[in-house]
Amino acid sequence: MDRSGFVGSYRMSLNLDSGLPPVRRVPVLLPYPFPAPFDYAVPEGMDVQPGDVVLVPLNRRQEVGVVWDGPSDATVPDRKLKPLISLVDTPPMAEPLRRLVDWMASYTLTPPGEVMAMALRVVRQLPGPSTGWRRANPMPETRMTEARMQVLAALADHEPLATGDLARAAGVGAGVVRGMADRGLLIPAVLATAAPFGWPRVSDAEVRLSPEQTAVASALRAKVAAKAFSVTLLDGVTGSGKTEVYLEAIAACLRQNRQALVLLPEIALSSQWLSRFERRFGVAPAVWHSGLSSRIRRITWRAVSEGHAPVVVGARSALFLPFPDLGLVIVDEEHETSFKQEEGVVYNARDMAVVRARFCAAPAVLVSATPSLETVANVEAGRYSKLHLPSRHAGAALPSIEAIDLRETPPERGRFIAPPLVAAVHGTLERGEQAMLFLNRRGYAPLTLCRACGHRMQCPNCTAWLVEHRARRELQCHHCGHTVPIPIECPMCKAQHSLTPVGPGVERITEEATALFPDARILVMASDTMPGPDAAAEAARAIEAREVDLIIGTQIVAKGWHFPHLTLVGVVDADLGLAGGDLRASERTVQLLHQVAGRAGRAEAPGRVLLQTFSPEHPVMQALLLGDLAAFMASEAAQRRPGNWPPYGRLAALIVSAGTAASADALARDLGVAAPYGDGIQVLGPAPAPLSILRGRHRRRLLLKTRRDVAVQPLLTAWLARVKVPRDGRVDVDVDPVSFL
Ligand code: ADP
Ligand code: ZN
Repeated sequence: MDRSGFVGSYRMSLNLDSGLPPVRRVPVLLPYPFPAPFDYAVPEGMDVQPGDVVLVPLNRRQEVGVVWDGPSDATVPDRKLKPLISLVDTPPMAEPLRRLVDWMASYTLTPPGEVMAMALRVVRQLPGPSTGWRRANPMPETRMTEARMQVLAALADHEPLATGDLARAAGVGAGVVRGMADRGLLIPAVLATAAPFGWPRVSDAEVRLSPEQTAVASALRAKVAAKAFSVTLLDGVTGSGKTEVYLEAIAACLRQNRQALVLLPEIALSSQWLSRFERRFGVAPAVWHSGLSSRIRRITWRAVSEGHAPVVVGARSALFLPFPDLGLVIVDEEHETSFKQEEGVVYNARDMAVVRARFCAAPAVLVSATPSLETVANVEAGRYSKLHLPSRHAGAALPSIEAIDLRETPPERGRFIAPPLVAAVHGTLERGEQAMLFLNRRGYAPLTLCRACGHRMQCPNCTAWLVEHRARRELQCHHCGHTVPIPIECPMCKAQHSLTPVGPGVERITEEATALFPDARILVMASDTMPGPDAAAEAARAIEAREVDLIIGTQIVAKGWHFPHLTLVGVVDADLGLAGGDLRASERTVQLLHQVAGRAGRAEAPGRVLLQTFSPEHPVMQALLLGDLAAFMASEAAQRRPGNWPPYGRLAALIVSAGTAASADALARDLGVAAPYGDGIQVLGPAPAPLSILRGRHRRRLLLKTRRDVAVQPLLTAWLARVKVPRDGRVDVDVDPVSFL
């Protein structure tokens, strides 16, 4: 936008030509993908500051927006300005959060309003209902439908819920709830408004930290005391007490009466973390994720903004909470790729957490036993500092890791667990210890093939095989969710009963394990068998209570769990993540397998890990077998450095999609022709995306790769401006891509 003719601050912008009294104008950012804020006139007698939440007219509707920082857009003449309608009675959006919004918008090339919408989403729902419903007692005699039973079940052990939240929790329409209220099955109840977050006990911890832990804890406390921006990598083997130590940094932050934010990659899987927090501080932290009811969201948002939620533990979106005085930001399991949000505003929450900390002048702490190469490179370049915990707490040994060479000791025909792993599981179970089998694949089989004609069952909307889910008797696409019943005949050659599963998923491993270990109590942990935090918490409880002998799971089992009786981990297919040729395939496989391995032997009994692989000589397997991750990361770095691959260069992806292959190709070609060039700039592609059809859209990819000292954003902006995108086409920008599908 051209603001060259603009003089003065927006609070006093004068229109010298009109001869009318000056109009006070302010820019208001609206939660929509407009390129910039719009100006509004401030009515006589209203006083607004940047950050204030206001109601404004927009296309004959009323919208909630935020008064943004100047200067305003003087190109719209005063007489065309619409006036603000009113101030919304809610805490203003503080300066650090506005700076984060602006920064993210320009870094990710997203319209600022779209980023701001993430911070405003809760406010837009204000004010909420103050009454909800509870179960009648006694219950009047009336017809009980399935839907009504679900509503009553949703209220079983809950506090009262508002109509919308109750309907959502029960999976029914709001009409069902109202109907039940009419018949006296539900009676009105006042919803609590007080913030449910107690003040943590910040007295000294009951655990006695080891000398190493003490040193790290005091270094972190010093960072907190400095009340200044810094970034620290807290790196230490699994079970070395990283969590224990950063809880002490949180205590230090609370003693300053400032708030702390902890980002966890999968908040639904954090029951053990939450109970640990409660043990340390005597109260529960505020929890923030997308699954919260709108009422709890509002209460939490308010409490955070008023400083009544001292510690928030949350998913990515917790970054946008209105902390008035944030004193510490922690990102646990910082290497996790799930910190990258791929839908909507595409951003990496780990990196934005660092930016958030910078604008709040607070320390950020990135925690991992397997830090990402990005973070390691930042340490090496001196941008981040590093603290290290080299050994497991209380002398617990790291598990021993061995390979099972599937070429030498293959499983029996039609099976996937090789004899040495079978024997190891038997031995473990006989000793009364727990074992785990890990396979990062949901369902029964990743591919279904016709034995008669070779036809492969494929998704009609995506370039992907349909995955068999035998328990549900379905084939499902894991990209778009398309589902069909398992057919009896081949859709191609019509042969009967010729479709056969190829390869294993956890369901199939469970079937095999049930046959091999008939007496073992088996628990399956996968995102589709364990939906939601309650199921995950119950699974963790059952394992801790030794009600389970054998755990079979997908990557969910790799997530920071502490299972003291688990001594054997078998990785069914250690090579799985290496296929596909993704930039970070090796790095990620090492991280994932190391994390899974880290679940074994966390208490007195030593742990053992067996990796089933066809290539034990692969550098990834060697790094795991020798336990030398640092050497592996160094060789990864050496491979990426010369080509300016991240983290030694910058990368951005353009994902082209269109309704037909021809128009996707045409748009991709246009982008290719208009590509930027120059010293340290390279454009790769266009090429069909690995998922070349997704949800029926045809996809092509281009990659912009630059030297680290070249900023990609201006290049991308200029590049996109040179190309006209047709109506059915789309170009999505992904700065620092993590997924290459
Ligand atoms: P990490 O986060 O590095 O995986 P944790 O902080 O989870 O390690 O510690 C692993 C286990 O050891 C936890 O059960 C923790 O409570 C326990 N632990 C760690 N340090 C101590 C200590 N100094 N005293 C008592 N228990 C400890
Ligand atoms: Zn699909």
